[in-house]
Amino acid sequence: MTTKRDLYEVLGVSKNASQEDIKKAYRQMAMKYHPDKNPGDSDAEEKFKEVAEAYAILSDPDKRQRYDRFGHSGVSGAGDFGGFSNIEDIFSAFGDIFGSGFGDIFGTGTRRRSARSRNRGTDLKVSLKLTLEEIATGVTKTIKVKKYVRCSACNGTGGDKNSRTIDCLACHGSGEIRHVSQSMFGQFVNVMTCERCNGEGKIISNPCRTCNGDGREVGYKTMEINIPAGVAGGNYIPYRGEGNAGKKGGPNGDLIVYIDELSHPIFEREDNNVFMVLPISFPQAALGVSMEIPTLTGKAKITIPAGTQSGRILRMRNKGIPYLRGAGIGDQLVQVQVYVPTKLTAEEKKMIRELEKLENLKPSKEGGRNIFEKFKDALNI
Ligand SMILES: [Zn+2]
Ligand SMILES: [Zn+2]
Repeated sequence: MTTKRDLYEVLGVSKNASQEDIKKAYRQMAMKYHPDKNPGDSDAEEKFKEVAEAYAILSDPDKRQRYDRFGHSGVSGAGDFGGFSNIEDIFSAFGDIFGSGFGDIFGTGTRRRSARSRNRGTDLKVSLKLTLEEIATGVTKTIKVKKYVRCSACNGTGGDKNSRTIDCLACHGSGEIRHVSQSMFGQFVNVMTCERCNGEGKIISNPCRTCNGDGREVGYKTMEINIPAGVAGGNYIPYRGEGNAGKKGGPNGDLIVYIDELSHPIFEREDNNVFMVLPISFPQAALGVSMEIPTLTGKAKITIPAGTQSGRILRMRNKGIPYLRGAGIGDQLVQVQVYVPTKLTAEEKKMIRELEKLENLKPSKEGGRNIFEKFKDALNI
């Protein structure tokens, strides 16, 4: 694999460029390297993919932040995660920012597609909500997708059993309609795709009654989605050919499953580590304590040493989230918070007043003056 270029450099914008600047830069670059403008130029195609990938990350505030902090490793994953494998992906992902259709900005007729690819079904996007526990272990989810499927009555052909394919009556089989107009400068010929046959030149003599000649019907498909451990919000898994069926037997679109990470009541994810706050009592902090606390994979024992200051962070190794690519598991970081009681009986108050007299409980004594120094080193326990 080649070294990836800096994404800001790819789009030719500065690190603090606004979302609007990024969008503008992408639009310009995409037009410059668009395959229609550079037919057969594989360099341009690579550039086109590169700018689309850069835009995919920098246009998403979440991903952009991760990229700013961790570089490419913050936004890419293993195998199918991230990145585009072909040009069609880019069209389907970003077609919307170009307005009505990608082809429009290049003028009509520059992107001539075969009838088959014109009939390609659209992509479907599904978002899958996952808990941190599911992300920590990996999970298989069953989803039911409502989509266009091939019409069962005509097997996608769009014609009933007596139907034949005949030349389109409007364009006489050419797939194009020519409008000729005269002007003082001469004759103008305007060629347009025939609307009747969608440019195919052929029509069906007896359309299927189930699908009215469309070749598709609405159906459901149940699928098992295998999620590996370590995914993050924004990752996606493309399933080729699992999107909407194409018209009249055209190829299927893709199904793209996006990962949506649910927030957790106890843990906060910090890349592959998870962070939690653990309240303990003053006697536990002073004398030390061993206890069971929650982790993403069940309960685990933690030992809090005697004399632990409030705010200290203890590290439980390998109790975090596995790395998607390569080996290793993150850690669970436990920040100790010494609980100060807010409701006390007269008796309890009396006992605490007794404690107050003890010399060693005063912050001015012992290591109290150095508490903040200690916090600096607390991470590496
Ligand atoms: Zn049909
Ligand atoms: Zn026609």
